[in-house]
Amino acid sequence: MGNRTYNFYAGPATLPLPALKRAQEELLDFQGTGMSVLEISHRSKEYDNLHNEATALVRELMSIPDDYKVLWLQGGASTQFFMVPINLQVSGKPMEYVDTGEWSSKAVKEAKLYGDVRIVASSADSKYSYIPRDIEFSPNAAFAHITGNNTIYGTEFQSLPDVPPDVPLVSDMSSNLMATVTDVREFGVIYAGAQKNLGPAGVTIVIIREDLLDRVPASVPTLQKWKTEAEKNSLFHTPPVFAIYICKLALEYWKEFGGVSKIEKVNREKAKILYDIIDKSDGFYKGHAREDSRSLMNVTFTLKGAELEEKCVKDGLSRGLVGLKGHRSVGGMRASIYNAMSIEGVRALSEFLEEFREQHQ
Ligand SMILES: *Cc1c(COP(=O)(O)O)cnc(C)c1O
Repeated sequence: MGNRTYNFYAGPATLPLPALKRAQEELLDFQGTGMSVLEISHRSKEYDNLHNEATALVRELMSIPDDYKVLWLQGGASTQFFMVPINLQVSGKPMEYVDTGEWSSKAVKEAKLYGDVRIVASSADSKYSYIPRDIEFSPNAAFAHITGNNTIYGTEFQSLPDVPPDVPLVSDMSSNLMATVTDVREFGVIYAGAQKNLGPAGVTIVIIREDLLDRVPASVPTLQKWKTEAEKNSLFHTPPVFAIYICKLALEYWKEFGGVSKIEKVNREKAKILYDIIDKSDGFYKGHAREDSRSLMNVTFTLKGAELEEKCVKDGLSRGLVGLKGHRSVGGMRASIYNAMSIEGVRALSEFLEEFREQHQ
């Protein structure tokens, strides 16, 4: 490992070390071409192969049905906040959203530019510390939008809300893609910036059921139509080749690791280690998320007072535990333990938190 730290940043986030090493090895000479992958044409055979392999790996790992497309896009998940209403709105039908935090609110703000938005449920009343229950989408909705995992607040949908037949469910899975086994059939659209759970910043994955590609009006600009890239295998224009390449290396690593069911198993173990520390701390650590809404990916908690929190972040840093400061809207601390955070890293953090409590309780 050399001088690698344990990186708990919320994103961009830690990547599997073997994928980084492979990228390092191949950087100057990609597969015997005598060129870096950064230098080869996106129309070359070599790039084409890697592009298709990356897509095939996403399909395989997530068991994506044949009637869904996988797109590699740019502009981050934030661009999808407006792409979703542009591509899925239907005149006279409300676009329905569940408001579970800042990312949901940002998605709502964009949708409002395009038509009638209904917030069907919100947990704003308690600093977004839980996932609302008994969510009711209307049968007339153009689509139903959720944020699968709330990166900032550390809450996550433990099960999907009921959605009326014919209303496509759309989920922003930027921070929980491939973290647990997902039945893609439950969704019309899944989108995720790659930089939390999958790869580097610069590429966004969109998984979409094919029939939904035809909703978009002809008057929409070419690149704002999902259909454009869907018809061109995400090669309508130059794709973010290096980001897709790193995703491919990470995906190869995950395949060998044992796929998403194995990832989920380890993710559950990792999260349990940290939530146990919180629950057994006699109130020294206070979890932000309600127990039934806890995220497997972002563990948010506070300590008594900003001074103690600052010290905890600082002491952690001196032990090679990086990125533990909470988001400014929640305060306190946040340990992001995405797929690529090893169980060893989580154990190192839990040992540190135990010691810190013993010293300061
Ligand atoms: C990080 C994040 C985003 C924003 O992603 P960008 O790629 O930076 O636009 C959106 N939604 C969620 C849930 C996130 O965690």
